[in-house]
Amino acid sequence: MPHEFDLHTHTVHSDGTTQPEDNVLMAKELGLAGLALTDHDTVSGWAQMRDACTRHGLVFIPGIELSTERDGRSVHLLGYWVSSDDGPLMAECDRLRNERVRRAEQICARLAELGMPIDIERVRAIAGDAPVGRPHLASAMIEAGHVEDIQDAFDHYLADDGPAYVPKYAVDPVRGLELLRAAGGAVVLAHPGVSEDGGGSVTPALLDELAAAGLAGVEVDHPAHEPDVAARWRALARNHGLVVTGASDFHGERKDLRLGDRTTPAEVLEQLQAAADNEMYGKVSVSPAAR
Ligand code: AMP
Ligand code: ZN
Ligand code: FE
Ligand code: FE
Repeated sequence: MPHEFDLHTHTVHSDGTTQPEDNVLMAKELGLAGLALTDHDTVSGWAQMRDACTRHGLVFIPGIELSTERDGRSVHLLGYWVSSDDGPLMAECDRLRNERVRRAEQICARLAELGMPIDIERVRAIAGDAPVGRPHLASAMIEAGHVEDIQDAFDHYLADDGPAYVPKYAVDPVRGLELLRAAGGAVVLAHPGVSEDGGGSVTPALLDELAAAGLAGVEVDHPAHEPDVAARWRALARNHGLVVTGASDFHGERKDLRLGDRTTPAEVLEQLQAAADNEMYGKVSVSPAAR
């Protein structure tokens, strides 16, 4: 697989289970030219992955997966080559993280009412440096013996319509897009055809809005997109003249997705980088000679 890139991977810096270097080693093993780190609402893993990429001769693509929400449905935006010292974007990420701790406490209280007490400190320990999310709460529920597995926890308690669900604070997708663009990033709409939270997929109308606001691409090739769903979004992306990307959304052990399962070729990555407006990063070098 020459000159292919995995543009969406997670680590322990959000809700993945691997270290940045593990992802780099997996990418290298697969013969990928490079990979992006796109942890949720944080850039805290960048330095580690950049170092590992340098050591192993891969191209590092700095990214972030920003959580936004419209009409109670979560919409994820991938921002590539954003400045890690952009004040407004980092302030928004801090706010998202702090609100998540408060929300986790509220979910714990609900679970206690439901006769399933879990220790918030244990939840925070499981999350480590990562923003606290429902998958961490689910892990704590398993440890406490309340549920069999993660899916059980979501199906009966934590899903959006579940009895222990508490909504989280989030910005509107258009505002999120503007924040990422203002930080110099090229923005890609993540997995529009899957509902991570059971709320349904992104609507074509929202894609219209995002495209008008400067969206650069759509993550069409994603492991959770069935072929017909991918075909539909490929056509929508084409209609808007948007870049079409592929990526694995690797989360380590927490989700059944393999790194490198979907990839993006070098030519497409170059188109994407042309949409970024950030002098902090040089042009991505995709030629094998440069590696
Ligand atoms: P949070 O950001 O805390 O709302 O958690 C969102 C994460 O929970 C998503 O990225 C998924 O990994 C997971 N998740 C959400 N809904 C479900 C569901 N119905 N079944 C399994 N996992 C889910
Ligand atoms: Zn995730
Ligand atoms: Fe996502
Ligand atoms: Fe993701």
